[in-house]
Amino acid sequence: MSKQQQAPGELELVREFVNTVDLERDEERLSSADALAAWLVDHGLAPPAVHARAADLRRAIELREALRNVLLAHNGGGQAPAAAYETLDDAVCRARVRLRFREGQDAAAGLESEAAGVDGALGRILVIVHGAIAQGTWTRLKACRDHSCEWAFYDHTKNRSGAWCSMRVCGNRAKARAYRERTHKPTVADRSGVLAERSAADASSAEPSRASSGVRAPLI
Ligand SMILES: [Zn+2]
Repeated sequence: MSKQQQAPGELELVREFVNTVDLERDEERLSSADALAAWLVDHGLAPPAVHARAADLRRAIELREALRNVLLAHNGGGQAPAAAYETLDDAVCRARVRLRFREGQDAAAGLESEAAGVDGALGRILVIVHGAIAQGTWTRLKACRDHSCEWAFYDHTKNRSGAWCSMRVCGNRAKARAYRERTHKPTVADRSGVLAERSAADASSAEPSRASSGVRAPLI
């Protein structure tokens, strides 16, 4: 049983951005300013000539982790810390996000990020978030409740009850942990299945890099 994780429309870009780090595998895709620039270009968020500096990378990662905090809050984690929303607000300011009406197009107005470079690209991510809030899809984007995972996934369940990126792995792991706590039996946590499960769930995703990254050897 593999769970569909992909978010609808442009919201998938936000999910992919949050998942540029894989805590389970300890893999960081935004490992340098150049890697950040390449990721933004590859995902159509910045023009090919974009240049990223070390400070851009720091802000991008701060924004990503602020988003993850909000996605954890969507997953029954209570309120995200105020600092997370401050980071989002700061990114919107730096991106100079403005409401723009488009001449000659009835009822056409939208938020646009006016800043150039990485700031503008990060602003585009937040414009997508705003659109998802307006469409009622934002709170379905969640971070896995397993804190060794925290993978971003879209909750497609009817009653918005999805808690784990993969029921078969992270969900069962939580159940096993709860069982152990009840029975006080010391056992070794099984972390091995999550990688294969995630790969299967993302196989239908548009992102080639995860699909082609293969399955690493089990951690334990
Ligand atoms: Zn998970």
